[in-house]
Amino acid sequence: MNLFHSLRWRLQFWYALLLAIALAGLGASAWQLQRTNQFARIDRELEQRLAIIERASASGALDGPRQGAPGELNLPARDRSIFEGADGRQFYYVVWLRDGKIWSASAGAPPDIRPPERRAGPPAFRSRGELRECFHCTQDGKCTLVGRDIGAELLSGRRSAWMLISIGGALLALGIGGGWWIVARSLRPVAEITATAGKIASGDLSQRIRTPDPKGELGRLSVDLNDTFARLQDAFARQGQFTADASHELRTPLSVILTETQNALSRERSASEARESLEICRRAAERMRRLTESLLTLAKVDAGSVGSGGEICELSRVLKDAADLVMPLAREKSVALDLELETVSCRGNPEHLAQVAGNILGNAIHYNVPGGSVRASVRREGDRAILEVGDTGQGISPADLPHIFDRFYRADTARSGAGSHAGLGLSIAKALVEAHGGRISATSVVGSGSTFVIELPAVDG
Ligand code: ADP
Repeated sequence: MNLFHSLRWRLQFWYALLLAIALAGLGASAWQLQRTNQFARIDRELEQRLAIIERASASGALDGPRQGAPGELNLPARDRSIFEGADGRQFYYVVWLRDGKIWSASAGAPPDIRPPERRAGPPAFRSRGELRECFHCTQDGKCTLVGRDIGAELLSGRRSAWMLISIGGALLALGIGGGWWIVARSLRPVAEITATAGKIASGDLSQRIRTPDPKGELGRLSVDLNDTFARLQDAFARQGQFTADASHELRTPLSVILTETQNALSRERSASEARESLEICRRAAERMRRLTESLLTLAKVDAGSVGSGGEICELSRVLKDAADLVMPLAREKSVALDLELETVSCRGNPEHLAQVAGNILGNAIHYNVPGGSVRASVRREGDRAILEVGDTGQGISPADLPHIFDRFYRADTARSGAGSHAGLGLSIAKALVEAHGGRISATSVVGSGSTFVIELPAVDG
């Protein structure tokens, strides 16, 4: 992996860079502060001594100059010790006259000293190599300078700088090491996620990411990914099951057609026998056609090409038309069909809504008892259009009830019969209702009947 594309290296690089900048800034500020304080102290000392020299020179307390050589000021013993002896050796002074000649200088004054630039105002300061000097020119034309050797201070400043650099370097190394550890630790789940995703991509859908800390950011991501993987696995399993079920359902009518045609071809048949065989084949083909239509509808809904848009449909009209279609079946089964219709509109595809109503009504009649009844109604509740179908049939057991909307689920295979009931009617109804932004639910009491309720968003039509 390219280092610049590695998250770990990029994090580490920026972290180290920011840490280095922060440490350098902190060290430079500390050093600058120390240096400023040191110079302020030195300048204060120089200023105090300048005042002493100026006072002494104004009072004319001068020992020199004599025979052209600069003389020394006749300072009081207390002040003299500042410029002499073991303590005072580092300080020196020089007093220049207006003509630039040295009027007075201490013994320790550097021989190459040059007069400062004359200017009015408060005392000023200058640095020359390892010397710091304070000077001031007065009205009478005298310029006084007091200086001292600051070599020791400069050396200690350099030492402090090196110390700060070493401490900063050590802290930086420590920070980088700690950062590396933290980054490696924090990114460990990413490596795990990548590895698991790789295994899943290569086909092992049962893999899951281990999440020791499900509350952290990456932990939450892992939990979400695991949920997605679980749903994927479930979807693949259902897909496989669906294909197996569909093939199974198609195999029966196909076998019927094959057997019937083989039988018919195997020997000479009378016209009525041939007609009977053809009738069996027609029924089998009819069943296959219905099944493939159902599969096609489900595929369309799954692909999202069935939407809630479309035209405004009068739901009571839809139910009435569906009821007319199932009426012959109701008569055949001796089931009474009552309708209670309110005018409610919803938006959608009338054919699909008719298919939903037809499926529910067809089931209510098919799974009913002779002499039973079906009550179907359409009404409006707030902003919802409700289509309700209740029957007095056999009911659905609590064990089957949660599964009746599953594809190819048949609660009672004996009663459903292998004929036209493949267990797709309710799953198609559910998929279509949901594609229209609605929902479908069922309640049932075994032995006394079931009620299916469809809720759709109502529109003012
Ligand atoms: P099918 O094509 O087998 O009727 P459906 O998806 O329409 O499939 O229904 C699934 C199962 O739910 C049926 O097999 C049946 O057992 C049960 N079922 C559906 N509607 C009713 C009902 N009104 N009364 C009792 N059982 C029902």
